[in-house]
Amino acid sequence: MNYIVLDLEWNQSNTGEEPEVKEIPFEIIDIGAIKLDENRIMIDEFNQLVKPSVYQHMHKITSNLIHLQMRDLQKGQPFVKVISDFFLWSGRNNVFCTWGPLDLYELQRNMRYYHLEPLSETPIKFLDVQKLFSIAYEDGKSRRNLEYAIDFLKIEKDIPFHRAFSDAYYTARILSCLDEATLENYSIDTFVLPRNRKEEIHVMFHDYMKYISREFPGKQKALEDREVISTKCYLCHKNIRRKIRWFSPNGKHYYSISLCPVHGYMKSKIRIRKSENDGVFVVKTSKFISEEDCQKIIEKRNQAKQHHKTKK
Ligand SMILES: [Zn+2]
Repeated sequence: MNYIVLDLEWNQSNTGEEPEVKEIPFEIIDIGAIKLDENRIMIDEFNQLVKPSVYQHMHKITSNLIHLQMRDLQKGQPFVKVISDFFLWSGRNNVFCTWGPLDLYELQRNMRYYHLEPLSETPIKFLDVQKLFSIAYEDGKSRRNLEYAIDFLKIEKDIPFHRAFSDAYYTARILSCLDEATLENYSIDTFVLPRNRKEEIHVMFHDYMKYISREFPGKQKALEDREVISTKCYLCHKNIRRKIRWFSPNGKHYYSISLCPVHGYMKSKIRIRKSENDGVFVVKTSKFISEEDCQKIIEKRNQAKQHHKTKK
């Protein structure tokens, strides 16, 4: 098994000059990657520019950030060629690693735009090195930029930032610094969703549980699903008493608290997310919290109730 550290740069519609193409809001123009063996030693590299076919004007943000001009991209190969070279180079049976959660998603969206065979039939496990950096060195919630992490780890800045290849290279350097236990905190890309109840994802991490549902036509249908709203204790798998029923402070996130006689207060949070096909899916996380934190959630609910009343 190898690690493939991938970084992409993309361009987007320049409003006024070119309309956005809904199926491909971000067109990949630069692909860089580093291959590491199972001991996380760098063994190979990939670096190619993509000749654009959707957006012919460079967006301001893109050119400022990555110092690429359209004339540079004209030297690139078409996306389909670059991607086929990339998979020949990378091989299968790899773990993808990226800085942040976006690259794998955009890669798949670009591939679908060109009717290429999907990368996977099911959600893809990958390592978000930006998240892992936070878990290893900070609170797990902060998200730093790449250069911050490089400075923090005192890694030499031997090539300039903000091109796909250099960012993949620096991400790989950071990946090599992390210990094995940190790597257990993998992420799950949701470009492709579980196709049925059986494929739905239930993963237990060190101190929380994550559930990713199949797709539903809308929020209402999702919130009627037994599994979505279930709040069984994820440690002893028993039905436990719900202390605070599902409520939402904003219509997007839902919270509940249940009390397990053995494990204590379990907070569950549902996030409703839009799928690629205009449906929705649910990401539910559950974790055990202190009585004090439980009190904070109760206050949040009371505020939501109050707000609701005054609106009426
Ligand atoms: Zn329990």
